[in-house]
Amino acid sequence: MKWGKNIENIAKGKSPGKCPYCGSENTDYNCTIVIPEKRLGHMMIWCNDCMRGYHISRMEVPEGLKTDKEIPQGLKY
Ligand SMILES: [Zn+2]
Repeated sequence: MKWGKNIENIAKGKSPGKCPYCGSENTDYNCTIVIPEKRLGHMMIWCNDCMRGYHISRMEVPEGLKTDKEIPQGLKY
């Protein structure tokens, strides 16, 4: 899975790091919490340069992760 390293970085509370497609550091992510009592939700990771994105459809969102970042339009999966 191409974004595996990035997800690891996010889970450690760091920035996502290099885009697996173009190598840009201009990457970002956002978590959406759907069930607050269980902190269950989903996450989107993307690259602002090549606009590649990855969606994790179901996960437990750790404390401290970004949940207010706007997801850009036109991401490619
Ligand atoms: Zn990229």
